[in-house]
Formats: sequence, C-alpha cells, structure tokens
Amino acid sequence: MILKAVMLSRTSPPAGTAARPSASRPEDRAGAILTIDLAAIAENWRILKKRVAPGCDMGAVVKSDAYGLGLEPVARALQGAGCVTFYVAHLDGAIALRHILGPGPRIACLNGPNKGTERDHAAFKVMPVLSTPEHVKAWCAYALKEEVLSESIVQVDTGMHRLGLSEREFAGLMDDPDGFLGLHPQMIMSHLACADEGANPMNRAQLGRFRAMRDTFRTRFPDAKASLANSSGIFLGPEWHFDYARPGAALYGVNPTPKAPNPMLPVVNLKARIIQVRRVDSPGHVGYGAAAHVQEGAKIATVSMGYADGYLRSLSAVGLGVLDGLKVPLLGRVSMDLMTFDVSNVPDSAAQPGAFIDIISNVVTVDDVAKAAGTIGYEILTSLGSRFHRRYITAPQPRAGT
Ligand SMILES: *Cc1c(COP(=O)(O)O)cnc(C)c1O
Repeated sequence: MILKAVMLSRTSPPAGTAARPSASRPEDRAGAILTIDLAAIAENWRILKKRVAPGCDMGAVVKSDAYGLGLEPVARALQGAGCVTFYVAHLDGAIALRHILGPGPRIACLNGPNKGTERDHAAFKVMPVLSTPEHVKAWCAYALKEEVLSESIVQVDTGMHRLGLSEREFAGLMDDPDGFLGLHPQMIMSHLACADEGANPMNRAQLGRFRAMRDTFRTRFPDAKASLANSSGIFLGPEWHFDYARPGAALYGVNPTPKAPNPMLPVVNLKARIIQVRRVDSPGHVGYGAAAHVQEGAKIATVSMGYADGYLRSLSAVGLGVLDGLKVPLLGRVSMDLMTFDVSNVPDSAAQPGAFIDIISNVVTVDDVAKAAGTIGYEILTSLGSRFHRRYITAPQPRAGT
C-alpha cells in the first residue's frame, strides 16, 4: 500500500499532490512566525474597561480582520474578557462575527448598509451605522415596509467631515416629523479626528457639538445612548466616554497616548528566519540598487521575509531588528520576499541560518516600526501578511524581562 502510494506520487501530475498532507511542520516551512498574545488582548480590554465609568459599555472594534490579527481568535478572546459590543466595517465581517460569537453580542457595522443588504442586517442582527440621509431614508423605508423596528445607530459629523450626518442634515431630519420615522436607534455616535493629540482644541470642539446633537436627538428618542470615544478618546477623560466606548488599536498594543509611555501590553511578536549569513570578503554593496555599502569583514544576515509580507518597503535602510538581544539595522532595500540585516556585532553562535531575527517585539514595538516607516501602528498591523506561521497565545504567559 505504502509502496503503491509512493509510486503514484512519483508518476502522477502535480494535481494529485494537493490533497497529500505535507510531512513537515508549518512553522518549519514558513519564512516568519507571527505570535499573537490573546491573553494580552483580553488584559488590554480590561485595562481600558477600568478607565471608563462602570455604566459605560466598553466594546471592541474588530474591523479589518481584527486589525490584521485574526477575527475569530481575537473576537473569542474579547468575548471571554466580557466584551458584548463589537464594531466591524463591512457586513461580511459582521456576518462572520455573528457565526463566531453566537446570537448574544451586539454587532455594529460602521460603514453603513449598502443598498439591498437590509434583510441580511435583520437576519444576522447587525446594527447598521446610518451616516447619510440616504442611509436613514433607506432604513426607515425598510423598517416601515417590514413593520419591524430594527435597531440601528445614527452617526453625526462633529467636525471630521468623513462620515456622519452634517449638522444641517441632522437638523433637517429632526425638524421633519417623518425624518426618522420607523427608526429604533440604539445610539447616536460620532468620531474624533484628533483624539491621539490630547491638547488639540478639536477634541473639546467636537465634544461640544456632539453633546448638543445628542441632546436634540433625545427630544425624539429619550432612550438613545451615545458614543464618541475610540482608543485615544478614552484617555481624553470621562467627559468623552458617554455610554458606549469603541476602542480598537489600543487593544492590539498600539499606544493610544503617543506622547506618553504606552499604557497597553504588547500583543504582537514577529520574527523572521535567517536563511544565510554572509561574511563580506571585500568592500561592496547590498541588495537592489546596490543601495547600502558594507566594509570588509561585515556580517550580513538574509531573512525569509519582505514587503510581500507587509513589511513596508519604505523601511529600507531605516528598519531595525533584534537578534540575541542586540539591535541589528536593516541594510539596503526591502525585497519582496527577502531582506538583509547587518549582524556584524552579533556573535556567530547566534547569527546563523535557522535563527530568527525579531522584527516586531517588546524592544522594537509596532509603534517603533511605524515611526521608522513614516506611518502609524494601525497600518503596520493591518498590513501583516498571510504567509506567516501564526501562533496564538491563550493563557497568561510569564513575561520575559522588560
Ligand atoms: C476604527 C474606528 C474606531 C476605533 O479606533 P481606534 O483608534 O483604533 O481605537 C472607533 N470608531 C470608529 C468610527 C472607527 O472607524
């Protein structure tokens, strides 16, 4: 039997090989290993929960596959921590989440209901965020036709000019007795433009406008709750918390207070496998464009990861790894599947093929990588590629020395 299988595999075309399980371990095949600490995500949720008033419903934003970290494991971890309100961007995410979480939790769809999706919102118990007069009109029409009061969220624009009813549109709907007819709004919400800059006067200006619109809204819907704060908004102070808080990035370890030390636990570790270590024989160049110079005797490690894995090419020459506790600078350009580090200062015993260079760690954090790339931690996380071997830590782990 075994002999026959081997013979078959030698002679049959590649199509027949697809179903055959590979004999090696996934972590041995992958170029890089991404470890996601679900216990830290749960703890970050609790850290934020302690900052808001006891009556505030601290939810979690899990849009974009939970900021690239995996919707299913992350949502389950948050549910385990006590989270009952979840926010996603699209209906597909909301439906996936409903299958993961079961019927209990509230699910809100931030980008609003596309035409023709009303029934699915109702079927999967997804609250749409109504941000335009068209959204409101379509949702009211649906509610009246079906004779159901499906829950929804009304978003108002308090100064960001991105999504939400303008003050004039809102006033128009409020003045019209049929403006919100058939609606059963769970809350009125708005979004802060500058919450990560605590001293920015935008924050108080938006707060003032939001309070006024909420108060007006409550003349029609006395039970409507209110929501304004994202992660950074929670750190602006209790005035910004209202009834529902909507943190995302901070749960995943991004610093919500960029000018102060990070109050959140790190969540992500990413390490890339060294394929080759090269001792330079004579002065020369490294990588595409021969962009980096190296001296004789320099030691270069090439790792099995590149911009196709979401490590932005703009990190060329400015990225930083950690090997054997030592910071090692990225040399030259990031390639699609490869990049090179200067490991001259690392002992040969550590700098060798099969070892791993930390790309995101407690030493070089998501925020550090983002800063070097000229972007924000959000983009680094949501760019994380699909080729990594992913490991999820579920139990609280003893933390290595800080
Ligand atoms: C993404 C998003 C959030 C979460 O923001 P973070 O800065 O990641 O905490 C909250 N509310 C809305 C409307 C969003 O789009």
